[in-house]
Order: sequence, then structure tokens, then C-alpha cells
Amino acid sequence: MKPLIVANWKMNPGTLSEAKELFGRVAEGVEDVKNVEIVICPPFVYISSLGASAFAKASAGLRFGSQDCFWEEKGAYTGEVSPKMLKDLGCEHVILGHSERRRNLGETDEMINKKMKAALSAELKPILCLSSGKRGGDAKEEMGIQLRGAMAGIEKSDTKNIVFTYEPIWAISTTIGSVVATPENTAEGKIFIKEVIYELFGKDTAESARIIYGGSVDSKNISGFLKDAKMDGALVGAASLKPEEFVSAVKNAVA
Ligand code: PEP
Repeated sequence: MKPLIVANWKMNPGTLSEAKELFGRVAEGVEDVKNVEIVICPPFVYISSLGASAFAKASAGLRFGSQDCFWEEKGAYTGEVSPKMLKDLGCEHVILGHSERRRNLGETDEMINKKMKAALSAELKPILCLSSGKRGGDAKEEMGIQLRGAMAGIEKSDTKNIVFTYEPIWAISTTIGSVVATPENTAEGKIFIKEVIYELFGKDTAESARIIYGGSVDSKNISGFLKDAKMDGALVGAASLKPEEFVSAVKNAVA
């Protein structure tokens, strides 16, 4: 399986021209990098322009994702964006259940479960974030509830289209006093996620599940997460806004 590197731009950069500049520099920088899947998740409003840009066409290796979606296809849902609309713009993935949305917007496991189902039926691949600010058993308990809640009623046949993300809140770069996780911490998170998937869907699904890591990933630490902790890829926040740094991280992921 090729490593999957996801750029979560969050609510950045501030203008479309800056977004084009960032995207263009990343596209150019990774043009010759093989054996990696790269998904760029810009704010909704930039997806269309970036997708239509010459850079996107020139760089077939770059894919698009969004940072959220709603659970209905269309209708009276002011401010929302449907999975079908995102698919139509060329998105292949959607980040769901990010800890910032859970915290700032009160997203619940029930809402995330509805979004998971809607995304899958529109053929968007969810990048499901599992996050706790706690450590040890308390963190596992919280992430177990998130994972079971998000996966409720999801068919085993859909699990191959889901990317599971272990993203401890204490390791996210914007968390006050954040600390960088060690590959050992990260491997523990992966094992725990696999255990829950095993319990829900059985051995074959647990073995093949794609589990990536997010939290202060940069060009220097990425290979520890991918090679030592054997994560299947990374979700990159702050470092994805610095084109040289992100391109180096992608290169180091496959070096
Ligand atoms: C994130 O919040 O999804 C994230 C990966 O952020 P950072 O890399 O900045 O810790």
C-alpha cells in the first residue's frame, strides 16, 4: 500500500491567490515523487478553482479532499455542503470528525456517523479522525466510543474506503503546550484502532485497515511515524502550509 499524505489546510490561506501559489508550489515540488498518494484538503471555497487549475492537470498525483461535509444530499440546510457537491468538484476524500469540529462546533459521534454514511454513498472516502486529549486507558476509552459511534451501521464492504486517523489532541501543533508523539505512542494508537476494528468487522478488515497518524508531522519526524510506527500515512496540518516543508515531508515519507 502506498503511503497516504493528507494536507489539512484548515481555514488557510487567507486568499485564493495565496491558495493557488501554495498549491502550485506543492504540485511542482512533488511532480516526480512516486509511490505516494497525496490528498490536499483546502477550504471548500478554493476547491473548484484549484481543481480547474493547470497545476492540478499537470500533476495527476495530487488528489483533493474537503475538510467536512453535511449528511444530506440537498435541500434547506443553510451553509452546508453535500458529499455529492464535493464529488462533483473532483474531491475523492473528506476529513470527518476532526477534533476542532468536535470542540468548536459540538459535532457528536451521531452526526459524524451520518456524515460517514452520506460520504460513502456519494463515493467519497472518509478520513475519520479519532482524537483524545487524554492519555493511556482514558484516551482509548474515548477513541473507542468515537470509532464505534462513527462506524455504527456501516457495512464491512465499505471499510476499504475509509482511512482511520489516530490524532491525539495533545500532539496537534496548535494545542497549547503540545508535545510531539513518539513513534511508540503512535504505534500504540494504531494497535488500539485495529483492535476495535477487529471487534467490529473481523480479522481481515483489521489487518487491511489503512491507519494514518496526525499531530505535528513535519519533514523531520515523518519517517519515524511511517517506518518505525508503521503508520500507513500522515495527516499534516501546519507543515502543509509551508510548501518546501510539505514537499520534503512527502519525499521523506517514501525515501
Ligand atoms: C490537524 O490538526 O489535523 C493536524 C494534523 O495539525 P498539525 O499537523 O498542525 O498538528
